[in-house]
Amino acid sequence: MKYIEPHGHMVSRTTDDYERMALAGCVAICEPAFWAGFDRNSAQGFYDYFRQITEYEPKRAARFGLKHFSWLCINPKEAEDVQLADDVIALIPEFLNKPNVLGIGEIGLNKNSRNELLILEKHIQLAADHDQLVLVHTPHLEDKRKGTRLILDALKNHAKINPERVIIDHVEEHTIDLVLDQGFWAGMTLYPESKCSPHRAIDMLEQRQAEHIWMNSACDWGVSDPLAVPKTMLEMRKRGWSQESIQRVVFENPIAFMGQCEKFVL
Ligand SMILES: [Zn+2]
Repeated sequence: MKYIEPHGHMVSRTTDDYERMALAGCVAICEPAFWAGFDRNSAQGFYDYFRQITEYEPKRAARFGLKHFSWLCINPKEAEDVQLADDVIALIPEFLNKPNVLGIGEIGLNKNSRNELLILEKHIQLAADHDQLVLVHTPHLEDKRKGTRLILDALKNHAKINPERVIIDHVEEHTIDLVLDQGFWAGMTLYPESKCSPHRAIDMLEQRQAEHIWMNSACDWGVSDPLAVPKTMLEMRKRGWSQESIQRVVFENPIAFMGQCEKFVL
């Protein structure tokens, strides 16, 4: 069965992982800009990273017949330094015309600090100015609900942002309704140790009739599993989901959201 990995940090992964994902039915991977395992101390470091995810990762993916798309920003974890963040944001427009770039992301909050919020607002303005889709990271654990509210308010306060063109990722039971009820898309991240287990994700899909939701593995620098989506598809089958309803979540929903960018062609 085909699926799309809508949020995977392949710079943290080996080439063998691309092969395993292709064997499991993956047809496309989408890579939001994020923390790369260490704090970069210059805008030049981000320039090279943007080249990596717009020029080099697509070639690595193509060796296994996989499409690779990317999103650009300075992530909230490194956005505490406002001058660095401003310098990185200034680099982004020249990359927006690259053929695999879908939008601005993953922006958001990490510790809900004042500087993070300032840089979040600058990214929202950048997305509005260039008519880009937006992918949002929400903070972990106890800060999640507060951070999600702050992010949704910042997005709704901007007249040019359409919630249907924004996905709020890493939702959990206490934030999913907040996101979907206001017209945004929601992403669920399947992690072995935190965030969402397959069964919790499937419970949420059943409660919300799988509308405007996608699932991803993140497969980032931390403990994570690049095959978390196909493993959850197997759990869905065991719980009685039909082939069609599984395909809707793991294939058609990501296409419906990312297809709003004309560059998202499989
Ligand atoms: Zn991520």
